[in-house]
Amino acid sequence: MSERVGILGGTFDPPHTGHVLVADRAARRLDLDPVLLVPTGRPPHKPEGALLDAALRAELVAAVAAEHDRLEMWPGEIEREGVSYTADTVEQIAAERPGAELWFILGTDQLREFHRWRDPERIVAVARLAAVARSGDHPDEAAARLPSGARVDVVHVPRIDVSSTLVRQRMGDGLPIDDLVPAAVAEALRKKGLVASPTSR
Ligand code: ATP
Repeated sequence: MSERVGILGGTFDPPHTGHVLVADRAARRLDLDPVLLVPTGRPPHKPEGALLDAALRAELVAAVAAEHDRLEMWPGEIEREGVSYTADTVEQIAAERPGAELWFILGTDQLREFHRWRDPERIVAVARLAAVARSGDHPDEAAARLPSGARVDVVHVPRIDVSSTLVRQRMGDGLPIDDLVPAAVAEALRKKGLVASPTSR
């Protein structure tokens, strides 16, 4: 049987429990192994001035992956110079894993905007889309403008209100983040003096 590989891109600034939830639910629902967690180099849609530099974001993602059998960190985007486009990434992963079936994992909001991305038809030519629907989302409506030939599988996940923005805000305010991020992330950030310890809550 061919390898079934998931790809979850993100800024991971820093990684949090929402990322793990999505990767884990997609892996179970679609029988993916591995799910590649792909930290962006310089995200095209996000301004400069992120809190954590690329090397540290990759280190944190690798620490999360080390705790989960099916998760792996894929460093290709941070190793690439400049802005990374998903089309280049999925083609590179496809070339590295001949014969593998690929699923690119994305949220319903991203699915709605997908037709505006760089070369979306190149993405759907090599990967299926795993559309993550949080409770209350409507993935079918969001899929209305996809390129022809796009193959979409829906992955339902419970809605949990955690984002990297929230984690960064708490870090900035000197508050603990232990309920929002995997233990390995909290530990690594604490060692670097970037977060408060849970006892100071
Ligand atoms: P930021 O708050 O900095 O915008 P983020 O928390 O959305 O970041 P990203 O690294 O940009 O995190 O997201 C990577 C992927 O994870 C995206 O597809 C995003 O939709 C998804 N994601 C992030 N948080 C959640 C969550 N709580 N539940 C489900 N999916 C999530």
